[in-house]
Amino acid sequence: MYEKYLKTYFGYDRFRENQEDIIKAVMEGRDAFASMPTGGGKSLCYQLPGIMKEGLTVVVSPLIALMKDQVDEASARGIPAVFLNSSLESDETAEIYSRLYRNQIKLLYLSPERLAVEGYLDRLRELKVGFFAVDEAHCLSEWGHDFRPDYLVLSRLRENFPGVPIAAFTATATAKVQQDIVRILCLRNPLVVRASFNRRELSYHIRPKSEVLAQISSYIKDHPRDAGIVYRLSRKDVEKTVAHLRNRGIRALPYHAGMKGEERTLHQELFSNDEVQVIVATNAFGMGVNKSNIRFVIHGDLPKSMEAYYQETGRAGRDGLDSTCLLFYGSGDIVRQKYFIDRLEDPAEQRKSLDNLNRLVRLATVNVCRRRQILAHFGEEIEGNCGGCDVCNDTTEKAEATVDAQKILSAVIRTNEGFGITHIIDIVCGADTAKIRDNGHEDLKTYGVGKDKSKKWWRGIVDELIGQEMLYQDSERYNVLKLTDRGRKVLFGGERFFISDATASKEKGGGGVSLFPRTGSAEPADEGLLLQLKEARKALAREKRVPPYVIFSDKTLTEMARLKPETGTEMLEVSGVGEKKLEAYGEVFLPVIREFTQSH
Ligand code: ADP
Ligand code: ZN
Repeated sequence: MYEKYLKTYFGYDRFRENQEDIIKAVMEGRDAFASMPTGGGKSLCYQLPGIMKEGLTVVVSPLIALMKDQVDEASARGIPAVFLNSSLESDETAEIYSRLYRNQIKLLYLSPERLAVEGYLDRLRELKVGFFAVDEAHCLSEWGHDFRPDYLVLSRLRENFPGVPIAAFTATATAKVQQDIVRILCLRNPLVVRASFNRRELSYHIRPKSEVLAQISSYIKDHPRDAGIVYRLSRKDVEKTVAHLRNRGIRALPYHAGMKGEERTLHQELFSNDEVQVIVATNAFGMGVNKSNIRFVIHGDLPKSMEAYYQETGRAGRDGLDSTCLLFYGSGDIVRQKYFIDRLEDPAEQRKSLDNLNRLVRLATVNVCRRRQILAHFGEEIEGNCGGCDVCNDTTEKAEATVDAQKILSAVIRTNEGFGITHIIDIVCGADTAKIRDNGHEDLKTYGVGKDKSKKWWRGIVDELIGQEMLYQDSERYNVLKLTDRGRKVLFGGERFFISDATASKEKGGGGVSLFPRTGSAEPADEGLLLQLKEARKALAREKRVPPYVIFSDKTLTEMARLKPETGTEMLEVSGVGEKKLEAYGEVFLPVIREFTQSH
């Protein structure tokens, strides 16, 4: 029922999964909680009610750097929007207030610091607020990865605005964070929406790390027109990588916490504005990156946790176009991270970090769909071939290890499925331990059958068996290992067992980076025209002083280059072109297309 507004202001024909439910709830005055992945389309869920609802919509966001972008984007769509935060001069602020009091604004972006100012909520009550949207709501929770004490002021919204609906948005999925948000904001019977975290447009590839700088530059050289982020663990490696890339003629800039604030902002802006191709960064870079046309995210080192990996890779492909996530993994990364973990004081922290590390090592090594492993971490299950990872696309090297699998599985069966990983490996390796002697396990047929290989090797086999669901750890009974039906088939039924190359040879080097080709759309976009459209966009963006993607996303330009519309009506067919944008930019892009079509 709100499609008309969707088309006029956003140029889209259909809502995405969940968007309409949230908007409907808010329009009816109901609270809402929405957990949706980055790029899932959260902002539309408050911008659209912002236009349709009576009164002012207040969007609370901690990302000051992003507010200008968001306001630019909303304005480009014809939505009267402003922001208030510490970056403004006092006369600018006064001007904004006068527009607010004259009800000329529909959408107000506010930082939590503002709200925390004594008496500010009273001031806000003088404006007719019709709806509160709390963005990045996980900042409320100490369980989230980005807790901000400032955010707690939001707990007072409810009492101050009893009749105004509040909607919370976050890209964090865990149940604990959700409970915190609902409790702290005092949401009343909220509509709870949890979208799938599967980012279909991202493909995941993990390669053995050898000459990592050469591996990184070789990928970028193969994709000269694509913007991307390279993540490194340390500042020193960031600097080294930048130097390496620049020596090879790649426009790259660093970003890390050791740099001055202004310099960081400048580098981020140059990247946003398509002035440099690559940003090389530590994990300090990310929150507040709104650039939608990031085509690849490369990790030169193993990230610290699955959440971090998901968030960082999630910055690619926000425009919905296919994008690549590439991770280089070597066992040196484990050694390095263990060094830091050993130095943590708090034993609970230490355990958590080790657990995080183990998960990532498993992600990088076992012969199991990467996407399945990532989503499983967020409690989401997917079946079958995902079609978008190196394991499913069969571009990883694999080795058969059926006999070794049978040795482990048989040791598990012969000890009545009553022991954990370490002991099973001890049996297969023929170790001489008290536990083995006490249980008489040196008499088992499988005792010592794997003496010729290292414990590390057997640990790899067990990880693969667990990852491929042939063994499972019974968490109710001291994590003892048990066979699944598939495990029985490998042991008795002749099913073969393959392990990834990473498991087979922990550190082997080589392994080129030629990736599985991307799947294109039915009719390809005209590359020549696309380039011209991008040039036009860049010139316009400079003139308007906004990042290029605020004008049109890459996805929209690509579709334009495919459909080649020559009239305004045809132009409206392009996804991402609404009436407002057609009015504002049509006369810039239509001539480019007409001219191109005539000369070809
Ligand atoms: P999030 O805030 O959840 O990270 P955004 O709101 O930035 O995501 O949306 C990501 C991209 O998806 C934007 O380019 C946005 O315009 C686009 N988008 C959102 N909703 C739709 C829709 N219904 N149809 C097509 N594109 C959409
Ligand atoms: Zn897969």
